[in-house]
Amino acid sequence: MTVIVTGASRGIGLSIAESFARRGDRVFATYKNTTHTLPALSESLQKDGFSLTPVFCDVTSEASIKELFEVAGGCDILINNAGIADFNLLSDITEKLWDKIFDTNLKSAFLASREASRYMIAKKWGRIINISSVWGVVGASCEAHYSASKAGLIGFTRALAKELGPSGITVNCIAPGVIETDMNEHLSPADMAALCEETPLGRIGKPSDISHAALFLAEADFITGETLSVGGGFGM
Ligand code: NDP
Repeated sequence: MTVIVTGASRGIGLSIAESFARRGDRVFATYKNTTHTLPALSESLQKDGFSLTPVFCDVTSEASIKELFEVAGGCDILINNAGIADFNLLSDITEKLWDKIFDTNLKSAFLASREASRYMIAKKWGRIINISSVWGVVGASCEAHYSASKAGLIGFTRALAKELGPSGITVNCIAPGVIETDMNEHLSPADMAALCEETPLGRIGKPSDISHAALFLAEADFITGETLSVGGGFGM
């Protein structure tokens, strides 16, 4: 199958892209600023007989998304993973910052899903998996913009599940809890320990926890419009 994973140059996306490639899929994995990780992964996968193609894509740009789909030439499974976070008081969130968060986290999923749906509708089969966040479900203080964009993804998912279900396409969200990636590297060891304590399963998540969930949703035939929390119980 042809799989497109956005924001695959680091963290969760990198793990998802590798998992699908090792399943035997033809993976197109996007990067923007981080250029070194995907070529290295692609080379090591190739040695094992698997296929992963790195593709530059700025997910906030309609033209860049269109180019990505032209390079891939199809899409059976789309994982809208690229995202950015920010921590600011409401009074310090500028219009420009709000738009940047929404363009990267939400408009991107609209643009990519619109392209992917053309291929999926023609085949009467497809999977769209949107990486939301626990904060999109419960909201986070000082992350009103991030939380709202991730909540928007959940609404987008539910609406699209209804629209695309009759075409054999499932649309679901994963809502990660706290996952050990660059996105959380600004947190101090004390912050991490506190988050760990708030997590019923008593540990910080790994990117592979999310890629396991993505593989599960890709294989699930009768689940759509759902938000699967993968955070060890964090934020329940
Ligand atoms: P990272 O910061 O580790 O990686 C972010 C990825 O998104 C990078 O590959 C980056 O590409 C890409 N990206 C950012 N902006 C753009 C853009 N404009 N166009 C294309 N790609 C872009 O994040 P995580 O792996 O932690 O997060 C992945 C997803 O999971 C995000 O949507 C995030 O919101 C969500 N999430 C993460 C949680 C966590 O605790 N880590 C918790 C809940 C949700 P590059 O570096 O090449 O520019």
